[in-house]
Amino acid sequence: MTEIPTFVSHLECSYTGKEYPADQLHGLSDAGKPLLVRYDLQALARSVSKEEIRNRAPEFWRYREFLPIRKSENVVRLGELMTPILPANKLRKKYNCGEILIKDEGRLPTGSFKARGLALAVAMAKELGITRMAMPTNGNAGAALAAYCSAADIETFVFCPEDTPKVNIEEIAFQGAHTFLANGYINDCGRIVGEGKEIMQWFDASTLKEPYRIEGKKTMGLELAEQLGWTVPDVIMYPTGGGTGLIGMWKAFAELEEIGWIGSKRPRMIAVQAEGCAPIVKAFEEGTRHAAPWVDASTIASGIRVPAAVGDFLILDAVRESDGFAVAVSDNAIMQTHKECATEEGILMCPEGAATLAALIQELESGRIKSNESVMLFNCATGLKYPMNASHEKIDLGKDIDFEAISNSGK
Ligand SMILES: *Cc1c(COP(=O)(O)O)cnc(C)c1O
Repeated sequence: MTEIPTFVSHLECSYTGKEYPADQLHGLSDAGKPLLVRYDLQALARSVSKEEIRNRAPEFWRYREFLPIRKSENVVRLGELMTPILPANKLRKKYNCGEILIKDEGRLPTGSFKARGLALAVAMAKELGITRMAMPTNGNAGAALAAYCSAADIETFVFCPEDTPKVNIEEIAFQGAHTFLANGYINDCGRIVGEGKEIMQWFDASTLKEPYRIEGKKTMGLELAEQLGWTVPDVIMYPTGGGTGLIGMWKAFAELEEIGWIGSKRPRMIAVQAEGCAPIVKAFEEGTRHAAPWVDASTIASGIRVPAAVGDFLILDAVRESDGFAVAVSDNAIMQTHKECATEEGILMCPEGAATLAALIQELESGRIKSNESVMLFNCATGLKYPMNASHEKIDLGKDIDFEAISNSGK
């Protein structure tokens, strides 16, 4: 049994500031808001240095001092590597703008950045003695939960809207979760998980309803800062559903500044949503701190089809404090940039990642993003999980091969 040095001091309600003891089972705070993990950052900074971290294995567990796990035996490892930052130089030239950097999270286990959050949440669940977990999901979170829970010997129940991408549903079921499709939205699935808590004795692993997924997603902020030589880009564009990643990165930057590893510069945080489901954009534009639930949500970017987010105020606070904004793009624009990035840069994004590129192009045009700003886009999942519409032609092996036709194909 190996003890991991941990510097957690307590948990704190993100809304009221009320403190809660660490090392106990928690869901939401008494106020019904997400709990944030707080650390003794000065002790953390005394125990580890940037140089020490640089020499560790290239995986997100290299930031273990910034994470809440106490015993390494509770950690399930599926290969949580650091994800590459890919410069999109052809697109930069085409749109005549500052640096475009794509953080490609599709390389993580289960093919999406949900692995970051769930690796942490499942390890903490194990540490706290949980044997059964449940979750509503649009796909990728359920897949990551299923994989990590199977490996950790935790039973899982996953509820998906019935139009969740088929590959996700199969992936979740194949990795050992009890898998259900419901004729509604993710919030309806969330209600099932909430209502079943007593009778099913499961732990609710919904986005932001437990404190540790944010800590896992926080590693994106730690990692990108380290990869950029302990600096941050001018702008981060993040496809926003529940907002865990945006909130997590914002927390990472605050913690890094507090220990003096980065300066006070923050990226402008841009929350990107789809026109068919844009509750955060509406709230941003109306100047409110909370977002009203979106009615009849619809978009091909299923990962950001979240009509209501528990952490709405945390997303909006970060966006506003950073001088960022929230913006919606159309499904048509998403489909265009999806293809454009695949053919121009050789990077097969997910539609949600493509939404950030669509938003970048749109906002360079509007002037809200300046042509001298460096911009980091988040590609959150491998494009291989999503439908790809592209044409191909047939060859009849019973005939002579017509190389002229082959040469002219696609014209
Ligand atoms: C979950 C998900 C998102 C949204 O992430 P949040 O941090 O929950 O806002 C975006 N894209 C993909 C592919 C996802 O799976």
